[in-house]
Amino acid sequence: MRKGTKTAALVLAMSMAVSMLTACGSGADNAAETVGTETVDTDATDAGAASGAVVTKTEGVLTFGTNAEFPPFEFIASSGVIDQYDGIDIAIAKQIAEENGMKAAIENMEFDSLLIALENGQIDAAIAGMTVTEKRKESADFSIPYYTATQVMIVKEDSDIAAAADMADRKICVVQGYTGEICVQDLGYPYEAFKKGTEAIMELVNGKCDVVVIDSATAQKYVNDNEGLKIVEDASAFESEEYAIAVKKGNTELLDMLNKVIEAKLADGTISELGAQYTEAVTAE
Ligand code: GLN
Repeated sequence: MRKGTKTAALVLAMSMAVSMLTACGSGADNAAETVGTETVDTDATDAGAASGAVVTKTEGVLTFGTNAEFPPFEFIASSGVIDQYDGIDIAIAKQIAEENGMKAAIENMEFDSLLIALENGQIDAAIAGMTVTEKRKESADFSIPYYTATQVMIVKEDSDIAAAADMADRKICVVQGYTGEICVQDLGYPYEAFKKGTEAIMELVNGKCDVVVIDSATAQKYVNDNEGLKIVEDASAFESEEYAIAVKKGNTELLDMLNKVIEAKLADGTISELGAQYTEAVTAE
């Protein structure tokens, strides 16, 4: 495998950068059903100490919803940061809970279910490499952003696709509900949507599709893990996107709590270190 060779190309621009909202980020489709389980982080500190006015689903526990199909931000590992869940977002979630004297719990579900789960009170916050979009802002409030990404195209190494416009007459694969799907819709091209990034990648690897449009850091992970693929960027077609944590609309107490920790972790370099650490972890042999 060509591990690490493209690591330099991975843009780990840890937020506070451009606050430009993507033109193709017009919103998520909250349709799918919730799947998955809840787990509670057992080695967190005692609950409740500094949670202040924040009211959570379970007292002393901060329940984060995620979709653990999005490495390096969230994925399932044999031994994760919170039970089997690992990744940049999971580490951030754990730190936010612990710094507020709470335990962190993860509920793993489909990406499209996260904002519904927030509205229903099934989870306190959604941390899922979730891009802030105008559409999503209609149904949730977002923390300050903690990561800047962009959509990219993954193609076979010998592909002649060099720009987004080259996708016009090709078979395009995306993941359902991701901003990549919205971008391709905005470009006006037909596409096929899969439930998981790995499924879209398998289509590409097996020659059943020509290009997968997905977030940059996750694309890098797939390219590292699968022989014969490369990333093609097109900054004129795909603007930068910002990841933030979502809370139920109006939950300003929780939002303030999240923002304080994110602000501190951006300022002291913790989030950028996590980015480097998990990027290395996914690119190392
Ligand atoms: N950033 C993309 C989005 O918000 C993908 C997120 C994810 O799959 N976890 O749609």
